[in-house]
Amino acid sequence: MKLNILVLPGDGIGPEVTREAVRVLEHVAAKWNHALHMEEGLLGGIAIHKTGGPFPDRTRELALATDATLLGAVGLPEFDHLPPEKRPEKGLLGIRKALDVFANLRPIVAYEALLASSPLKDEIVRGTDMLIVRELTAGLYFGTPRGISGESGERVAVNSMVYRESEIKRVARMAFELARKRRKKLTSADKANVLENSQLWREVVTQAGKDYPDVEVDHILVDNCAMQLVLNPTRFDVVVTENLFGDILSDEGAVLAGSIGMLQSASIGDQQPNGVWRGLYEPVHGSAPDIAGQNKANPFAAIGSAAAMLNYSFGLKEEGAAIDAAIQTVLKHGPVTADIKRQGTAGTTEEVGKAVCAAIG
Ligand code: NAD
Repeated sequence: MKLNILVLPGDGIGPEVTREAVRVLEHVAAKWNHALHMEEGLLGGIAIHKTGGPFPDRTRELALATDATLLGAVGLPEFDHLPPEKRPEKGLLGIRKALDVFANLRPIVAYEALLASSPLKDEIVRGTDMLIVRELTAGLYFGTPRGISGESGERVAVNSMVYRESEIKRVARMAFELARKRRKKLTSADKANVLENSQLWREVVTQAGKDYPDVEVDHILVDNCAMQLVLNPTRFDVVVTENLFGDILSDEGAVLAGSIGMLQSASIGDQQPNGVWRGLYEPVHGSAPDIAGQNKANPFAAIGSAAAMLNYSFGLKEEGAAIDAAIQTVLKHGPVTADIKRQGTAGTTEEVGKAVCAAIG
C-alpha cells in the first residue's frame, strides 16, 4: 500500500519522540512491503520562528494533500506571555479545523507493567481498556457569540455551546462503529438534566443507536462519569461526549495509564475518495520544555499514535497490532524512560524506539 504521511515534529520533545515514531513506521513499511512517502512540515513555535505564524499556508497545503498527519507537540515557553491567537498552540486548533477532524479518539489502557505508576489502587485500574471519543470541532470552543464586553467592574463574558444535529450524529455514528469492533458497549456522557444542548445530544445519540442494535448504549451524566472513571474504570468500553466534557474526561482518564508519556490520540475526519480516513495523530502530552533535547522523553505515545494511524487511516490492522504488541513487550522487558522506570537505569528515547523495532522483528 502507498502511505502518504505528513510529519510535523513541532517543538520541545516533539522532534525527539516523532523521530522514534518515524523509525517504527519505516521498519513496519519495510517489513510489510508498503511504499512510505513522508514529507516534513512546520507547525507551532518553530513555524512562528521560520515563517511568522504557527500554521503556515504551506503546512495547510501539505496536510490537505496527504492522507494522514503525524504530529509531535507544540509550545515554547518564550511564547507563554502572548495572547492565545499568537501562540504556537493556535496552530493545533488551525490544523484540526482545516482537516475537519471531528472525532478525537483516546484509548486508555492500563498496562500490567505500569499498574504501580497509577495513583489509583491496582485492583481498580487493572483491566481498564476504554476508548474516549470526543467531538472536536464544535461546542463551546468554537460556538458564537463569544467574547467579553461591558464596563470595567461589571464586564460580561459569553461563550456559546452550539451543536447541530448533523455534528452530533456523525460523531455518534463513528463511536457506534468503533464500539461494534470492540466490546459493543457505548456510554454517552452529557448534562441532560441541565442543558438543552445535552438534551439534543441524548436524543440524537439514541436515534443513531437504532442503526446499531448490537451495541448496548447507556447515557450517563458527565459528573457521574467523572466519578465512575476513577471508581470503576473497567465498566467503560467506548465513551462518546461533546468537546468540553471530552477534554476534561480524557485528561482525567490519563491517570489510569500511569504516565502522560503513554497516551496517544487520533483525530479522524471523513473518509476520502481514495478510501483512506483522513486523520491527525499526536501524543496527548505537550512539548515538555523541562526535558527537551535530553533524549529522555518517553516515545510510546508518539509510537502508539503511529500505530493508530496505520489502524484507523489505512486500515492496516495487523501492522498496528504488531506495534501495540511490541510496546507491551518493551514495557515488560525494557528499556523504558525515566518517567515509567521503577528500578535500574532508564533508557533513552532512541533506545526505546529501537527496542520497539526489534520487538516487531
Ligand atoms: P507537558 O505535557 O509538556 O509536560 C507536563 C509534564 O509531563 C512535564 O513535567 C514533562 O516533562 C512531562 N512529560 C510530558 N511528556 C512527556 C514524555 N513524553 N516523557 C516524559 N515526560 C513527559 O505539559 P506542560 O508542561 O503543561 O506544557 C508545556 C508546553 O506544551 C506548553 O507550551 C503547552 O501549551 C504545550 N502543550 C502542547 C500540547 C500539544 O502539543 N498537544 C498539549 C499540552 C501542552
